[in-house]
Amino acid sequence: MRQKKRFIAGASCPKCKELDVMMLFKEHDVEKVECVKCGYVMTQPEEAVQASTRQFEQVIGVFKPE
Ligand SMILES: [Zn+2]
Repeated sequence: MRQKKRFIAGASCPKCKELDVMMLFKEHDVEKVECVKCGYVMTQPEEAVQASTRQFEQVIGVFKPE
């Protein structure tokens, strides 16, 4: 089984309030966010988490030198 997991930069856990512990992964086509510190799992990421994920994807995304 292949599981893609990646950390969400700048996201904090809503439960233990730790920063940079949130890991995004897909399970049965549902995006989940899990805290690696306390194990808290969100099946529907909050707007803030989604926003920082998008930001993160832009950072690691395609670089287009102009
Ligand atoms: Zn946590």
